[in-house]
Amino acid sequence: MIKKCVLMKHGLNISGTSNNLIGNCCYTPSTRFNQYEIDSVACQACIDQENNNIKSYRMGVNEKYGIEQSHNGILVLDITPNLTCNLACKICNEFSSSSWAKLKQIPINKNYNTSPQNLFDIIKQYDLSHLKEINMSGGEPLLNNNLIKYISNLDKIVDFSKVNLRFSNNGTIQLNSKTINFMSQFKLVQARFSLDDVYEGHNYHRYPHRWEDWISNWETFLENMPVNTLPSINRTVSILNINRLDELENWHKKYSYTKLGDPIELIDHFAFGDLNIFQISQDVKDHILTKFGEEGLAWKYIKNVPISKDIKQCLDYITYLDNLHNQSFKEYDPIMYSILFKNC
Ligand code: SF4
Repeated sequence: MIKKCVLMKHGLNISGTSNNLIGNCCYTPSTRFNQYEIDSVACQACIDQENNNIKSYRMGVNEKYGIEQSHNGILVLDITPNLTCNLACKICNEFSSSSWAKLKQIPINKNYNTSPQNLFDIIKQYDLSHLKEINMSGGEPLLNNNLIKYISNLDKIVDFSKVNLRFSNNGTIQLNSKTINFMSQFKLVQARFSLDDVYEGHNYHRYPHRWEDWISNWETFLENMPVNTLPSINRTVSILNINRLDELENWHKKYSYTKLGDPIELIDHFAFGDLNIFQISQDVKDHILTKFGEEGLAWKYIKNVPISKDIKQCLDYITYLDNLHNQSFKEYDPIMYSILFKNC
């Protein structure tokens, strides 16, 4: 019997079989909900099913993607030690960002801000002899040197030269020599840069950050990162940027490869909740097909999406976000605004 999220009771997400897909779509959000003492219904469902010899969602996904399911120890550590973040991005919320919690005046339970020592004391109890990857997300892992603070002392129990390090970051923190030295110890480093739009569009999506700082940090990273590092651009596709995907794709052409010739991937995933691409009208579908053609990513993403019956709810949510940020979707993308909300 494989137990997933073996350390969830500690407010962590540590798994034996996770990969990008599982971590992002299911278990990591559940762990984050745990930080607010909400029951982790999704994870518990899998655990209950597996304890009763029923194939769970987790097992099905692992099988589909060919992920090893039988092992003697933890393969991947998915660590979300706190929600400390300096941004309140449009597609995010108080369950992932302390800035969002502050903006919405929702207190975060401080008990779930694990200390580095506490994290170490918990992790060291487990068999890490088969560990392949350490994955840290947040919050913002590079803020306050958190990546180093939380992971560096694991070198007492893990041989970093045999392990991959993967972390998300929002591009607001410039790479420094301390982080370069830390990253150099790993077999491979996958640094995922979150980015939903470029230039002025970035300022709209990633409140309150500014594009000039983002691009400066990105170029510094590309110039100075250690040779074991693979950066990627991770975009969240939502109703906010579906009409502007080409802007980022055109920008990305300039950054398709690192200076060592490794590809810099553009990886898309999808927003959930009121900004997801299911908030769509027939007029928007027609517009996207005309603008991007059948081969465009935007069309591929929405062509099978059903027409929404409640566009007004989406408008209300965007207006709510715009008021909190003192920004305007109408100014950010006037064409999309006029097509999507023409009957509201
Ligand atoms: S940087 Fe990441 S954690 Fe912070 S608000 Fe944006 S999406 Fe959320």
